[in-house]
Amino acid sequence: MTDIQDRFCPKCGKPSKNNGLCNHCLVENTPWVTCDNRVTHIHCPSCGATKTVNTWTDTSRERADMAPDIARSAAHFHKDVKKADIAVDIRDISINRSRATLSITGVLYGEPVEKTCTVEIVWQREQCDRCNRITGSYYEGLVQVRADDRDLSPYEMQTSAAIATQIEDTLQASGERLSFISDMNETRDGLDITLGSQHIGVMIVQAITAQLGGRYTTHPKLIGEKNGRQLFRITYLVRLPHYQRHDVVAIDRIYAEVEQVDSHRVRIFDLHIGKSRTVNADTIKRLIGNARNAEPALVTYLSHDSIGVLDPVSCASVELRVPPWLSVKAGEYVRVLRDADRLVLVR
Ligand SMILES: [Zn+2]
Ligand SMILES: [Zn+2]
Repeated sequence: MTDIQDRFCPKCGKPSKNNGLCNHCLVENTPWVTCDNRVTHIHCPSCGATKTVNTWTDTSRERADMAPDIARSAAHFHKDVKKADIAVDIRDISINRSRATLSITGVLYGEPVEKTCTVEIVWQREQCDRCNRITGSYYEGLVQVRADDRDLSPYEMQTSAAIATQIEDTLQASGERLSFISDMNETRDGLDITLGSQHIGVMIVQAITAQLGGRYTTHPKLIGEKNGRQLFRITYLVRLPHYQRHDVVAIDRIYAEVEQVDSHRVRIFDLHIGKSRTVNADTIKRLIGNARNAEPALVTYLSHDSIGVLDPVSCASVELRVPPWLSVKAGEYVRVLRDADRLVLVR
C-alpha cells in the first residue's frame, strides 16, 4: 500500500492524488474546449432547406431558432469533460452574419471550468438540389394518363391527380426531396404529370392502375451523362381500359354494370338476373352510361314483379320490371340511366 501523502505534484509541489500532476495542474495543462472562429450555415433562399456536408434537408425552423444550435456546434470538448453546458447569446450583424457569444462551463477532473468564446455564424445562400431542378425545368419522369379509345372521364382525371399529389406528399415527408411534381396538365389527350425522379413515377403509375385498372408501359430515353452515369428520362404511359368501373353496358339483350376490367376480360354485374360473371370485352355491344351519373326517379307504385316510376325529365309514368337485386317501396327513389327512350334501372 502506498501512502497518498507520499505523492506530490511535480509542477506545483502540492500533494497529488495522481501519479503525476495534481488535478488543478492537470486542468491547466488540458485544452478542455476549443471553439471554431466561424461556422457556415447553408440554406436555400427559395424553400428554406438546409445543407449539411453535401446533403439537403427540409426544415421549418427559423433562423433565430436555429442560431443557438449552430453556434454550439462550434465548441469541441475534451473527452474527460463532464456536465458540459453552453449558454449562447446571438447578435445579428447583417443579413449574412451573426455573432454568438458562448459561455461554456463544465467539470474536468473534479474541478469546475469555464470559458467564453466568440463564434461568427455565416448565413450562406445556395439554391438547393430540388429548387435547382425545378427552375432549370429538369425532369426525370413523365407520366401520361390516357384512356383506351376514348377521352379520360372527369372522375379519372381527378382521381389520377389526387393520387399523384398524395404520393408526392408521402415521399417528400419521408425525405425523398427529388421526388416532386414539377408540372401537371390536363391536355386534350389526358393528364400529363412531370416529375423530378423516376421513383415517384413508378409509384404514381402503379397506384393509378391499381385504382382505375388498365396497364402502363415504360419508355426510357437517354438524355446525357453525369459523373460517368447515363441519365435517362422515362415516360410512363398509363392506358386506362376502354370500359370503366360502374359503366352500364349492353350485352346481348341485357344490361350489365362493369365491376372490374383486366386486359381483355371484364367482370360484369348482370342487371337482369342480379349476378356477377366475367365476359370477353368484345362481347360488349355498347355503352349506355356510367352509374355514377344516374338520375333519381320517384317510385309511384309497386306490384309483385313491376314498379311504376316517374321519368325525371318527361314526368311520364313508366312501368319497369323489378330486378331481383332491387328492394324499394313506393315513394322512394330508384336510380336510372337512359338508353335512347328506355329507362335502365341501376344499382
Ligand atoms: Zn499541481
Ligand atoms: Zn430549395
